[in-house]
Amino acid sequence: MIVEKAMVHPTSILDGGVVLGDGTRVWQFCHLQAGASVGEYCTLGQNVNLGPGVRVGNGVKIQNNVSVYQGVTLEDQVFCGPSAVFTNDRTPRAPYPKGPGGYLPTLVREGATIGANATILSGLTIGRWAMVAAGAVVTKDVPAHQLVAGTPARAMGWVCRCGHRLDREFHCPACGRQYRMRGKIKSFPKP
Ligand SMILES: [Zn+2]
Repeated sequence: MIVEKAMVHPTSILDGGVVLGDGTRVWQFCHLQAGASVGEYCTLGQNVNLGPGVRVGNGVKIQNNVSVYQGVTLEDQVFCGPSAVFTNDRTPRAPYPKGPGGYLPTLVREGATIGANATILSGLTIGRWAMVAAGAVVTKDVPAHQLVAGTPARAMGWVCRCGHRLDREFHCPACGRQYRMRGKIKSFPKP
């Protein structure tokens, strides 16, 4: 276990081989399983679980009661709202466990937000700076900067890096950033 200048509350448990970056804070009742790694200046709220070998980037904020299961990766500056749910098996059966070889990986890319109590099915990618609304159930990939909401989650619009919704010209009224659509996606989802 390597802990340098990171803060770990005494009620939390770090298994062997866990690495924490400088400035990271791990609050009460967390369990970081063997080989999990967390970058610099992250915050893990109360009752956060990281599965074996899970990788968390820099500047990530994980709110209370989030389990990041084996197969899930969080890139830099991801935000996980309280009680967000990850999964790693789409067809689980108690008597037929698949084991790590059968897990579908989930990738949450840089800057993305997972809202409170949202559920992310396995085998998906949440794009850079995407925003998953609270309570959404995400069943397919989410493109970068897209806002998705509902059950199952549907595209509701686009969001700025700062989190504000973009107008129809892909302009952010809050911070002034201007975006341009590239690639195949041309339609602006109806709100
Ligand atoms: Zn903005």
